[in-house]
Amino acid sequence: MNSRLKDKIAIITGAGSGIGRASAIALAREGARVALVGRRQDRLEDVARQIGDSALVVAADVSKQDGIDLVVEQTVASFGGLNVLVNNAGVLHIGTVEQITEEQWDETFDVNVRGLWLLSRAVLPHMRKAGGGSIINIASVLGINGARDRASYAPSKGAVVLLTKCMAIDHGPENIRVNAICPSFVETALTAAVIAKAPDPQAVRQERIKVHPIGRLGTPEDMAGLTVYLASDESSWVTGAVFPVDGGYLAV
Ligand code: NAP
Repeated sequence: MNSRLKDKIAIITGAGSGIGRASAIALAREGARVALVGRRQDRLEDVARQIGDSALVVAADVSKQDGIDLVVEQTVASFGGLNVLVNNAGVLHIGTVEQITEEQWDETFDVNVRGLWLLSRAVLPHMRKAGGGSIINIASVLGINGARDRASYAPSKGAVVLLTKCMAIDHGPENIRVNAICPSFVETALTAAVIAKAPDPQAVRQERIKVHPIGRLGTPEDMAGLTVYLASDESSWVTGAVFPVDGGYLAV
């Protein structure tokens, strides 16, 4: 095991799959103790088994205040404090403003924005007590640029980008850093569902590859390195930043 995150205690949401799973494993590999959050307990337990003793499973819905309370209470009770929060849980609904239902709009904003706000608010007193902390928000390149059929998802990620900057300004003086990571197309359950719905999934996958200068789609592991850096003291002067990790997608 490496030690870039020795003595760090982290909460990571959406830790049972995709980017969250890879990031949780990477944080733990660098010495952090990690609270794994999501609704599906069996998924979290799989990840915890892979990590070992430094993992804690907390099954909770981040869009609900009682879920948030449970996550923070259990993490602090088990590990004795809190230094890092990775707000990674997210949902994606496809459609234009006319196609998106009210339920889909509400779920998108409840999980992607409201959950991120509620959990960030709840960890602040503990980070203050620890003398500082790092909040890492998983936004999207669609929080920066628009896209076809993303009329609820992209605005939710745009809100995450600006909430990141506002929190960085408000809490910088307390040594609480807040940054956002903007992935482009990473192959996970979230994007597999989109591709599977297309009339010709292979053709859509090839089209998506073509808009990434690096010549391939992202993997969950591609996202984890920056999360480790932002969680560590190596990034102690980095806050309010919005980082594309996108195979060059936004450069075009
Ligand atoms: P994923 O595998 O579907 O992960 C999403 C995670 O969020 C799941 O583990 C899910 O767990 C959790 N989640 C959803 N609603 C929740 C809720 N109400 N409470 C707690 N947890 C909840 O997809 P992913 O691609 O890794 O996505 C991770 C993040 O990256 C998301 O914020 C997504 O928007 C962002 N992102 C992904 C891509 C991409 O191309 N994949 C691109 C840009 C941004 P449960 O269902 O068990 O709760």
